[in-house]
This record gives sequence, C-alpha cells and structure tokens, in this order.
Amino acid sequence: MQPIDLLIIGGGPAGLSAALYTGRARRRVVVVDAGQPRHAVAEGVHNLIGMEGIAPMELRRRAWADLAPFDVSLRQGRVEALHHDGDRWIARLGEDTLSARAVLLAVGVVDLLPDWPGLSATWGHTVHVCPFCHGWEMRDRPLLAYGQGDHLAQFATMLRSWSRDLVVLTGDTMLPDAERASLEAQGVVVRAGHPAALEHQGAELTGVVLDDGTLLPRGAMFLGVRQRQTELVRGLGLEMVPDPFNEDGHVKTDEMGRTNLPMLWAAGDLCTRMQQVSSAIAAGGGRGAMIHAILSMTPSTPPSMTP
Ligand SMILES: Cc1cc2nc3c(=O)[nH]c(=O)nc-3n(C[C@H](O)[C@H](O)[C@H](O)COP(=O)(O)OP(=O)(O)OC[C@H]3O[C@@H](n4cnc5c(N)ncnc54)[C@H](O)[C@@H]3O)c2cc1C
Repeated sequence: MQPIDLLIIGGGPAGLSAALYTGRARRRVVVVDAGQPRHAVAEGVHNLIGMEGIAPMELRRRAWADLAPFDVSLRQGRVEALHHDGDRWIARLGEDTLSARAVLLAVGVVDLLPDWPGLSATWGHTVHVCPFCHGWEMRDRPLLAYGQGDHLAQFATMLRSWSRDLVVLTGDTMLPDAERASLEAQGVVVRAGHPAALEHQGAELTGVVLDDGTLLPRGAMFLGVRQRQTELVRGLGLEMVPDPFNEDGHVKTDEMGRTNLPMLWAAGDLCTRMQQVSSAIAAGGGRGAMIHAILSMTPSTPPSMTP
C-alpha cells in the first residue's frame, strides 16, 4: 500500500488549516475527524476577522468546502492507535488502517469540567473560559471569576474591563494579601469558597451556590478549566511541557511544529496555552507549510501531482 503524504488527525481549525496549505501544495492528504470540537456548544466564534461570530460548525462547513478542489479526503471517525513503522506512520480506525509519510496531530484537548449541577446547561452560553472570546457578550453582567490559579488577581483586574460588578472566588488559590488588597481597592469582592451548583433559567446563569450553602446572584461566570490530553496523545510517548492547567502538560514542539517523534507534527490547543481559533489556524497553516517543505526534500515523496 502506497502511503499518503500526510495524515491529519483532527479536523478543527488547526487541522483544516494545515489541510488547506498542503492540499494547495498538491499533497495527498487525509483528514480524520471525530467531530467533537471544544467550542461546539458556543453560539459563535469571536475574534476571527472577516467571520466574527460565525457558528463553530458553520466555520468547519466552510473550511471543508474550501478543500473540495484539492486532493484532500475527509473521513469521519476516530484514530484509535498510531505507530511508526520504518519510513511511515500506521493509523488504526476501527477495522481500517491508513499509512502516511507524515502525521499532524491536531486533536485539541479534553476539558475536565466540574460536575456541578447546572454547568452543562450554561457552559458555553453564560459560563465561559475566555473573556476575549465572550467578555463582550457578558458585558456589564454581575460576573464571577473562579479557578484561574496563580493568575487570579491578574485575571480579575483584566475582567473589570467587561464588568465592574465582579466577585472573585479564591477556591484553592492562596491569594497574597497585597493582591487581595489591590482587588478590593478596585471594588472587586473577594470571597473564599468553591461553587457547588449553578442556578439558571435555561442557559442563563442566575446564581452560584457555594459549598457553604451561600447563594451568590450572578449573571455570568469565567471559569479556569483544567484539561488533559486525548487518549491518543497520551499513548504516544511524546515529550511534554509542564502546564498548570493541563494534567499531562502540553505537547513540546520545535519552532517548525515537530514533536520528538520522526515525521510527527502537532498544532493547535494540544501544544499551547494560547488556545484560540485564530492561533490554531495560524499554527496549522505554518505546520502545513513546513511539512510540505520537509517532504519535498525527501526524494522518494514528490507531490502527488493530482488533481
Ligand atoms: C466553550 C468554548 C468557547 C470558545 N470560544 C472561542 C471563541 O469565541 N474564539 C476563539 O478564538 N476560541 C474559542 N475557543 C477556543 C477554541 O475552541 C480552540 O482554541 C480551537 O477550537 C482549537 O482548535 P484545534 O483545531 O486545536 O482543536 P479542536 O477545535 O478541539 O478540534 C480538534 C478535533 O479533533 C478531533 N479529535 C480528537 N481526537 C481525535 C482522534 N483520535 N481521531 C480523530 N479526531 C480526533 C475532535 O473531535 C475535534 O473535532 C472556545 C473554547 C471553548 C471551550
């Protein structure tokens, strides 16, 4: 079986951007995607110039349509295992296998959401992770910030730009006295405790019940979410960079996006804390260009010259 040039695992912004670069470079590319992007619940993607507020699945639909002229195949499914065999990578999808000269991991990360009652109804609507993505939509609401670890004070100070009615829950964070005093001087209410449940009407957050039973009426929340890597990434033996928000760390890459394993690249959320659609698109595109360049320098792998 002739290997394809590039297997892209994950069809989110990072993977599809790499597919566009390499498809346009006349590479034979397959994208395998399990169809569960992190932001699927969000009503719109923000901070994406030219497409501000586009629905996440509409962004994907358009990206897939853009790939139609090129030698890029899209397969719905999940790569369950991946191993290197001589000069190629072999991927298993159910009963099927695919072999490729190069692989790009663009599988994103897994958000470890707390099991608070009310979170699934409000997550991505009035409970958010990133104020740059949804601060504008939540502006001037009574806000709660929780789970930002050592960055809590810095995060809360920044959040005041979107609302002056702000409560900070310290949770497990040991907030230094000077930082607490600074926040209080800015009119931020600082409280001890953890959320235990969220009250809501539909997707609208109306209050946060704390672990001591106190109810804080709040209209939106910014939650620092812990993450882990996908099972596929966990099983590969990749070098990782310690990351306080990811229990596995994030995938270490060099400036070209290469991991420590041969002809295995990574792009997008799995290898950065800068987890944004625009960053994932930029990283995927850059990796795509580098992969094409490296394949071009390998005489046995000329571009497919189709179509
Ligand atoms: C609620 C929420 C709202 C957000 N809103 C915004 C926003 O407004 N603006 C913004 O810039 N950013 C936003 N983000 C961040 C943004 O979603 C991510 O930074 C971006 O999606 C990362 O792209 P990616 O391609 O790395 O991963 P993803 O978009 O997560 O795509 C990874 C894909 O890989 C697939 N996959 C995983 N494992 C496998 C496997 N083994 N085989 C095949 N496929 C697999 C997944 O199913 C998924 O489809 C938001 C995040 C969240 C959680």
